[in-house]
Amino acid sequence: METIKEDGLLAELRRRTGQMVEQLGRLVSAETPSEDLAACAAGAQVVSGLGKEILGDPAEFVEVDGRTHLRWRWPARPGGATIALIGHFDTVWPLGTLGRWPFAVDEAAGTATGPGCFDMKAGIVQLLHAVSVLDDRAGVEILLTSDEEVGSQSSRQLIEELGRRATAALVLEGSGRGALKTGRKGTGMYRLEVTGRAAHAGLEPEKGANALTALAHLLLAVDALARPELGSTVTPTLSAAGTAGNTVPAHAYVELDVRVSGQQEAERIDAALRSLATTAPVVPGTSLTVSGGPHRPPLPPSSSAALFRRAGARASALGLGELRSVVVGGASDGNFTAAVGCPTLDGLGAVGDGAHAEGEHISIADLPERAALLAHLIDDLRTGPDHTGPDSTAPGRTAPGRTAPGRAAVARGNT
Ligand SMILES: [Zn+2]
Repeated sequence: METIKEDGLLAELRRRTGQMVEQLGRLVSAETPSEDLAACAAGAQVVSGLGKEILGDPAEFVEVDGRTHLRWRWPARPGGATIALIGHFDTVWPLGTLGRWPFAVDEAAGTATGPGCFDMKAGIVQLLHAVSVLDDRAGVEILLTSDEEVGSQSSRQLIEELGRRATAALVLEGSGRGALKTGRKGTGMYRLEVTGRAAHAGLEPEKGANALTALAHLLLAVDALARPELGSTVTPTLSAAGTAGNTVPAHAYVELDVRVSGQQEAERIDAALRSLATTAPVVPGTSLTVSGGPHRPPLPPSSSAALFRRAGARASALGLGELRSVVVGGASDGNFTAAVGCPTLDGLGAVGDGAHAEGEHISIADLPERAALLAHLIDDLRTGPDHTGPDSTAPGRTAPGRTAPGRAAVARGNT
């Protein structure tokens, strides 16, 4: 390590543990449900203030479609690497959740709890402290968004732009019980809407076209599209039909949650769902509209393998034990950076459990440890002997022959 005093860094961060917990409490106490733009804007002020306090530098506020996202950027030196640090400060918890479930520390268990503490406000605290202990911030870019939990519509472009420029993307979502996330499924959201014809169910049912019965037949076809052995699932989630207990329903809909491990499967399922709309309906007189489509592309393990190896080596060197990895079904903004060819490692945030569940919590002792791991990883990627420059990091933007094979493999993240 060239720029970090290896022995002192973890110790320094451990000395800050109490401060980190207090700061996490401040972040959790500023509620930021994704749907509430005003609450998220107020939360952005709190996050920005914390960043100023920890880093000494104010955040750049990026407004997109009325939403506030935050950025800190320290330009890379010519030919130097750009390391993207990505997180979000919105949560799935509605305003007022704090009333029954305030931020709290359990000293005996060594944990802290509160809405959004694990997903992923503790990751933000770790990130800011990790950057603060770097001797040199050149090439570090932080992007904290406020719409990750609702699909990142307004931040997607920012994330992809950053991914295209970056040598590596490190995502601060919570770990999987300590394991880093080296693969994530791709997602799709669809809505099938059946239109039929209403009629009195007792007087003249034959004059109706039952949208609900038509939908039931469609669901069997939808069910057959899943290929669990390939990691593909198609799950009906929300549905409704009809207007009254004695009326043939003129309307029925279902929403589908689609998860895939590979892009080919995303395309196969998309084509199959769309073809349903042009197939003759089982119930005469009904018609089908299919809307939605693939959303987040898959984050394949190949995008993170090399980064994970480097993180593992850093963790061992720090005495943090062996790092584990896990491939998960849930998607994150790391799916977007991986899809634009940026090597991406996710789950670098808090150690804890219970994302989106009442009682989510984090491990306090791991706050400084994971912050130290992140700081070392950033420094390693940016200045370490394997660094190959920002142009040689992704398929399609490789500078062939520029580096030794081992280096290229690390930088491209394709092994
Ligand atoms: Zn999250």
